[in-house]
Amino acid sequence: MINFEYARANDVADAVRQIAADPTAKFIAGGTNLIDLMKEDVERPTRLIDVSRLPLQMVEEMPHGGVRIGALVPNSDLAYHPLIEQRYPLLSSAILAGASQQLRNMASTGGNLLQRTRCYYFYDTTTPCNKRDPGSGCPAIGGLNRMHAILGHSETCIATHPSDMCVALAALDAKVHVAGLSGARSFAFADFHRLPGNTPQRDTNLEPDELITAVELPARGFAANYSYLKIRDRLSYAFALVSVAAALELDGDTIKDARLALGGVAHKPWRDLGAEAALRRQTANEAAFGRAADLVLRDAEGFEHNRFKIDLARRAIVRALTQAAQATPQSQSNKKIR
Ligand SMILES: Cc1cc2nc3c(=O)[nH]c(=O)nc-3n(C[C@H](O)[C@H](O)[C@H](O)COP(=O)(O)OP(=O)(O)OC[C@H]3O[C@@H](n4cnc5c(N)ncnc54)[C@H](O)[C@@H]3O)c2cc1C
Ligand code: SF4
Repeated sequence: MINFEYARANDVADAVRQIAADPTAKFIAGGTNLIDLMKEDVERPTRLIDVSRLPLQMVEEMPHGGVRIGALVPNSDLAYHPLIEQRYPLLSSAILAGASQQLRNMASTGGNLLQRTRCYYFYDTTTPCNKRDPGSGCPAIGGLNRMHAILGHSETCIATHPSDMCVALAALDAKVHVAGLSGARSFAFADFHRLPGNTPQRDTNLEPDELITAVELPARGFAANYSYLKIRDRLSYAFALVSVAAALELDGDTIKDARLALGGVAHKPWRDLGAEAALRRQTANEAAFGRAADLVLRDAEGFEHNRFKIDLARRAIVRALTQAAQATPQSQSNKKIR
């Protein structure tokens, strides 16, 4: 039996004060990842600070046309919110492609950003793992690595970030707002998660005393031409082998603007600005989409069991961009289940 204390935060400032006072404490929101990690003995917080009742549960339109999503908005509420369904359907699709309805009802926006990798060795405390125990080694490199990274990995870690929602947030150019002891600040979504480098134990640039308070979407939602395509071993309740968030702004057949982000391939949602730039002013066709895919994957490197992902990612990019161009987004089997 491993004991831990439980406390509820009264407001954002109280949450930040409590976490800053105790480096072994952790925030808990929906608990759908943290509780599993505690049961597996991967995380051992001595104190849980429950933030689930903080008033961060609103989805609000901003004066500049964007939308602010409180960090405690449950994934289901967000996916089915009229503003998100109508203006950011890419985000709705990505959320509904993840987990199960029950999990999405519990999971929070902030917690989704901070969910940890699904690398088998990370969860297995009988094995070494640089992310769990820095310096102990990475058995995935020479071991079971079917679900692992093909882009941006390092000699210390080849894990992937498992979120679907974050892939859409990366493509949509979201911002992450946080509060800490030294005040509030915000991150461009691309700067929030980290590549493993020599510090795979750090998934994000969030400081230990900081609370995510909101995620902000800019005004442009690419609602007409988008697709979230998730390739996985089962049709539901499985993490992505490869996922693609694709969004286009078209003028006839010509691409005015493009967004392209991948999930399941790297330690963070993988957005490629070079490939997006290469799509602009091109005719929206398979040749242009193939060139963009080649650019995204130019430095891809697989391991014994996951090399297939490089070709899979190439085909998924072309297919998602084609679906976006034709305004026939990947169908959502969960769409009508509430
Ligand atoms: C069986 C299963 C299948 C799943 N499948 C998918 C899938 O296919 N796709 C997908 O994207 N996800 C999937 N998930 C993951 C799920 O989406 C996450 O577990 C969930 O989003 C985490 O949110 P939470 O509120 O429960 O976080 P918690 O478990 O409460 O917290 C997670 C982490 O975030 C920290 N935290 C929480 N809120 C804040 C905050 N506001 N500020 C700072 N730190 C905070 C906690 O301290 C903890 O470290 C799956 C989960 C399970 C269990
Ligand atoms: S890939 Fe990363 S998380 Fe997995 S065993 Fe290696 S160091 Fe650990």
